[in-house]
Amino acid sequence: MCNKRSNNAFPTPGHNHKQCLNDAIDKARKVFSLRKLRLTPLREQIYRQILTSHDAIGAYDILDRMRRQGREIAPITAYRILDLLHDMGLIHRLELQNAYYACYRDHEDDKNFIALICRGCGTIAELVDRKVSRVFEALEKEAGFTEEKRVLEVQGLCRSCRDSRKGGNSEKEPLNA
Ligand SMILES: [Zn+2]
Ligand SMILES: [Zn+2]
Ligand SMILES: [Zn+2]
Repeated sequence: MCNKRSNNAFPTPGHNHKQCLNDAIDKARKVFSLRKLRLTPLREQIYRQILTSHDAIGAYDILDRMRRQGREIAPITAYRILDLLHDMGLIHRLELQNAYYACYRDHEDDKNFIALICRGCGTIAELVDRKVSRVFEALEKEAGFTEEKRVLEVQGLCRSCRDSRKGGNSEKEPLNA
């Protein structure tokens, strides 16, 4: 999607996020129409809450934001829509934070990626790689283990947070805290 990010899973700080958002909405329209479903205004509104950034957001924060925008919806309705967006691969669930984040990448297989979570800025990036699945295929062969659920989430610091901490100016907390 955003070609400028192809060599680096993390979005560049100050990048044109409007482009990410528009690309994601376009993708959603295509995915919905392929499934013969409609991206209704409510579905789009919920999706857009997650698309405001590259961070993860919890279901109750989504409901809070919607309420502040004058739209009160029942948690069950929100969860149903989140499940749908999740099934369609438009958003992913972050188990570590019990929250959702938007998928800005193109990856057919929902399992071939590792979620990288920056604890400095909250950004989540996806490392999309076929090698990921090969590791699990080998495990299945060698250990005779049948996979049912895969959670690949790694917490750390993105390049720009790491560099700004090295500079020591905008430090929020010491790196080795
Ligand atoms: Zn962006
Ligand atoms: Zn993704
Ligand atoms: Zn960061």
